[in-house]
Amino acid sequence: MALFLKRAANYAASHTMTCNCTQFQPIELDRESITRRIKESPAIRQRLTQVAEHPGLRLYLFRCPDCNQFWQSGHEWNFEDREYLFQVPSIEVADWQSEPYQQPAAMMIYSAMMRDFCARATFEPKDEMCRVEGCSEHAIRFSVFCRRHHIESLQKLHKLPQNPVGRLFPPYYVSAPGAA
Ligand SMILES: [Zn+2]
Ligand SMILES: [Zn+2]
Repeated sequence: MALFLKRAANYAASHTMTCNCTQFQPIELDRESITRRIKESPAIRQRLTQVAEHPGLRLYLFRCPDCNQFWQSGHEWNFEDREYLFQVPSIEVADWQSEPYQQPAAMMIYSAMMRDFCARATFEPKDEMCRVEGCSEHAIRFSVFCRRHHIESLQKLHKLPQNPVGRLFPPYYVSAPGAA
């Protein structure tokens, strides 16, 4: 009887090793999806092998030992700094360490703030030219800059969020600020 149970346990172990990486969809850029993934992440992380660490940004790169899918961690002050994991394309460690992937929560917050700003702002061009040297755009009303340089100047003054750090990856992309 004991022998039978041991065999059964081995059988179960070898057949639960198959990973469930493909069950997870890319994180949608909304609070619900990010909150859900924060909850799912401790269990996901248990199955993964750590490949690299980025101490400056407190990020980790993982690989699934079963299917070789790469995963990266993210965390966001807006979500109590809790960690979440998301699938990323495979990458050389040195490349990842010099520029990790962008974090979906950071993308979401950035685009929401930019969307709010662009909805409130008027970007009507006026007769003057943009004050930035070499720029051939007209300045917009209430600014000495064109739309792009106006947004950049507000980012420098920390009145608008900085572009999220890191490299973009499919299925995410961002359009130029205010281009929509
Ligand atoms: Zn896997
Ligand atoms: Zn300009």
